[in-house]
Amino acid sequence: MENEIILCFGAHADDLEIGMGGTIAKFASEGKRIISVIMTSGESSSPWLKEDVIKEERIREAINIDQFLGCEKTIFIGIRDKDILGGIKHKGLKSFVNNKKTIEKIASIIKKYKPNIIFTHSNKDPHEDHKSTNEIVFKSLNLLNDKKTSVYSFEVWNVVNEPHPRMYVDISKTFRKKIQAMKMFKSQKISVYSLFIQVVLRAIFSGFHTKSRFAERFYKIR
Ligand SMILES: [Zn+2]
Repeated sequence: MENEIILCFGAHADDLEIGMGGTIAKFASEGKRIISVIMTSGESSSPWLKEDVIKEERIREAINIDQFLGCEKTIFIGIRDKDILGGIKHKGLKSFVNNKKTIEKIASIIKKYKPNIIFTHSNKDPHEDHKSTNEIVFKSLNLLNDKKTSVYSFEVWNVVNEPHPRMYVDISKTFRKKIQAMKMFKSQKISVYSLFIQVVLRAIFSGFHTKSRFAERFYKIR
């Protein structure tokens, strides 16, 4: 369906590329409108640089990469990242799962775009920020009393199989673009690079299910 609107919620700037970069590129090439929403702004990941410098750089970088894949718009919620050097200053997204303002903000985005499909993290993802993003999205849907919009989860750190229907998207034609997009993240090389092999293997294994070279797997969680 053309003009379909897809809303994608990721905790960090690189999550959507890792979890569904090939699908974003494919959907965009089919004329679907993709809106990317990034919960954090990543200030605390490089402690030796000034926070606002990092924020600006990361936002610019993330917008560039999203556009490269074909996203129509990137929205930053701007919640502070968890301090990866020990979590002393702030506790990450977990402290925002019951935050009224955050839930209302996400709800207003869903209300504005009226997406046909929502993609977000799995609640089985071991990363706290990822799990919290899932929770915030569902709380926002509840606030809107929205019980019918389809929600799919993508995979970043989660490895367990989930008791939900699966959807495999053949990304053979956009896999290279996904990898290119991941390589474009200069500001968070470590997190992207540590997932590289996993991303490739996962795409090959998921490809078996679609009898194609590469695929991405999603769970229909609602
Ligand atoms: Zn992440």
